[in-house]
Amino acid sequence: MTNREQIKKYINKNQKEFIDVLFTLLKQPSISSQNIGIKECADLLQGIMKKAGIENVKIMESNGHPFVYGDLMSPENEFTLLIYGHYDVQPPEPLDKWISPPFKPIIRNNKIYARGVGDNKGQLLAHILAVKTLLDLQGSIPINLKFIFDGEEENGSPNLKPFMVKHKEMLQADLIYRSDGPLDSSGAPIINLGGRGMVSLELTATGADRDHHSGNKGNIVPNPAWKLIDLLSALRTPDGTVQVEGFYDDVRALSERDLEIIRSNYFDADEKAKTYGLKHLDMDGETYFKNKSVVPTFNINGIASGYMGEGHKTIIPSTATVRLDVRLVADQDPRDIFNKIKNHIQKIAPDIKVSGEGSFPPSRIPTDLPVVQAVIKSIEKTYEQKALIFLAAGSSGPNNIFTDVLNKPSISVPYANADEDNHAPNENMNVDLFFKGIEASCNVMNDLADDEPS
Ligand SMILES: [Zn+2]
Repeated sequence: MTNREQIKKYINKNQKEFIDVLFTLLKQPSISSQNIGIKECADLLQGIMKKAGIENVKIMESNGHPFVYGDLMSPENEFTLLIYGHYDVQPPEPLDKWISPPFKPIIRNNKIYARGVGDNKGQLLAHILAVKTLLDLQGSIPINLKFIFDGEEENGSPNLKPFMVKHKEMLQADLIYRSDGPLDSSGAPIINLGGRGMVSLELTATGADRDHHSGNKGNIVPNPAWKLIDLLSALRTPDGTVQVEGFYDDVRALSERDLEIIRSNYFDADEKAKTYGLKHLDMDGETYFKNKSVVPTFNINGIASGYMGEGHKTIIPSTATVRLDVRLVADQDPRDIFNKIKNHIQKIAPDIKVSGEGSFPPSRIPTDLPVVQAVIKSIEKTYEQKALIFLAAGSSGPNNIFTDVLNKPSISVPYANADEDNHAPNENMNVDLFFKGIEASCNVMNDLADDEPS
């Protein structure tokens, strides 16, 4: 088998060619929400995959934008890896904030600037170019590979679950692997073993049927803003503990190994404070990693009532609304949590209206799986640095779809730089990290062959 040094050398030698392939992909807009260039990009991707040596490449229709599938199988291989990525991008607006045009890729200060370079074309391409690298060097890859590339991830992947259910046999694998998002701001690689779920809610308090004069009607007409504030402070204590009955009942306990992982993660409170734009962060590492992955949140993401225009308008507003997102952790069930919140509110503030705005479940795979250990070891060797392991990513990706439908573990390992500015103007990917991503995928593909998943 090819050793790691040879892989590194090969990537070094082929840097120009790899950048050219990436630029070709980046020049093709593929804005899913505006339905611009999707079909063209799927065609282009199909060609790039074939050229890299991936077989059975096809564009597969869904109820929305198509998926691009491909595989590379051999009866000699025991392990099958399913790689997920997405070829659609966010809209580039506001255009005047871009230093160079979003679909004209360019390298400045060792960074490639283009819409979609980090999210997700550069990361998706790293896996494809890893196939080319290994085939050129070794002639074969010691595990089976399947690729599924989504054309509407930036729209929330509405067709991913039905597609996976429909093609469950075709997509069956031992592990699902995904690279999206950035490395840690310290430069350390990150390995996510799950993702948080989410429930979104809107609460509306009402008073009179119209706004009233706060002098003439003060103390007479009830103020819905106060109703809402009183309710919110009854739902959560100042230290962040949620007071909803049964809210924590299904939160999965942490094993000794889980705690070990959390405690061994590197943490620098000052560096994090700087990254987040805070004066200081009063938190130790253990609390930080627990809060980010295994503790549910109860967040106010918008609140509105009364008059906030110029000057003062002395009114008692007639309505007040708050929007909440509750990030769930394994094994909280979104519907159950929504009902618990709704029931709790009905008990203490029955006239406040509660509506649900969508949800999805959390996921978290066991830390002691051999395949998890194999990926961690492989990544740490590639980046020559200890990885930060999140029992679940703070944000919510499609992990739960893979674990639910295929009933197999799913891991995400981001390849982009912490300041990739994805979704924003001047999206970029560090050139070295693009090549490092190819190397990481090569090594994971080789190293997983040594592992016997259970
Ligand atoms: Zn994105």
